[in-house]
Amino acid sequence: MKIVDFHVHVGKFGLLREDIQGLLNKFPFEKNIDVKEIFSNPSALKSYLQKQGVSQAVILAECGPGTNFSIDSQMIADFAKEDSFFIPFGNINPNYHKDPGAEWEHGHKIGIRGYKFYPADHGFDPFCDSMMAVYDKCEKAAQPIMFHTGLTAQRDTSQRFINPIEYRNLVESHSDLRIIFAHGGKPNWYNEALKMAAEYENVYLDTALVPPEEIIEWLNYRPEIKHKILFASDLPVSGSYSVLLKSLLSAGIDEDVLELILNKNAERILSHDNEHQLVIETEDL
Ligand SMILES: [Zn+2]
Repeated sequence: MKIVDFHVHVGKFGLLREDIQGLLNKFPFEKNIDVKEIFSNPSALKSYLQKQGVSQAVILAECGPGTNFSIDSQMIADFAKEDSFFIPFGNINPNYHKDPGAEWEHGHKIGIRGYKFYPADHGFDPFCDSMMAVYDKCEKAAQPIMFHTGLTAQRDTSQRFINPIEYRNLVESHSDLRIIFAHGGKPNWYNEALKMAAEYENVYLDTALVPPEEIIEWLNYRPEIKHKILFASDLPVSGSYSVLLKSLLSAGIDEDVLELILNKNAERILSHDNEHQLVIETEDL
């Protein structure tokens, strides 16, 4: 079965803050796999993922204190250069980027296809004026956006704006903006995440670090959200990819639902962004 992974972290290992380096080294990988290598080298990562059966991966920028601001949109665009295997998602941090709007324009020029934002880890209010203006631009350009939701493992974070329900006004006021709640609010706010995904057409959840038993609970409780779940590994925090995939594939999820989660839902979001992108380019906006 085709697999699209919606949540993969890459960067330059040596530039990460010490505790984050420790976090990435904590999880066992398959024999002969060097986490530093797959994290930092596009061809090593691509061949590792392809061996696992992955056909495309969304790679995420994270320009915050935990990465010493090293993983910006430019770095992700460079990582994804000339290889459609990688789908580059940028990052804007209003505590770092003095002009979030200009940073968005730059991202648009270099081929950024969507964004992940980290209000808790980066310590900002996601509903501040400068970020609301960024979401407007993402909506117009048909770029999906993700928020980290749920408890975060990074040091010195505020643990604020991590409950998906807090995003209700944004979701309602931007009905064409596809919003993905990464981690589905793990582990305390699953119900709120499910409620949002069930209630709003434009809300999706990713499965990064969500155990397969929990995904089954989601589907039992709200079967209608099967169209809203995106497979996501959170590599390299996931540890061994083969173990992760095996546990998901053997969890007892119906084949047709698994296909939605592993590729169809992601492809729907990503193809929509291509079509829209074309329209924007031909209109020369
Ligand atoms: Zn992540």
